[in-house]
Amino acid sequence: MEKKKPIRKCVGCGESRNKNELYRIIRTSDGEILLDKTGRMNGRGAYVCQDVKCIEKARKNKSLSKSFSMNVPDEIYDKLIERFSENG
Ligand SMILES: [Zn+2]
Repeated sequence: MEKKKPIRKCVGCGESRNKNELYRIIRTSDGEILLDKTGRMNGRGAYVCQDVKCIEKARKNKSLSKSFSMNVPDEIYDKLIERFSENG
């Protein structure tokens, strides 16, 4: 049987990629924004390439805020940038 790979869209560049290439950010039922390191946390998810450029685009376009229908604090973007910068 063919295994279907889940495809998700990056909120930065808008490109569709395999879910495992993207970084997941969630909004919990309490309205908290969290970085989902495991990809298994409960909540409404948004996806972004593991690329600082995509985070900057998402920040500029407020696309994360749009996905979550709430204001996403700058600190979330900063955390993501920090994380992706460390990776290289
Ligand atoms: Zn992207």
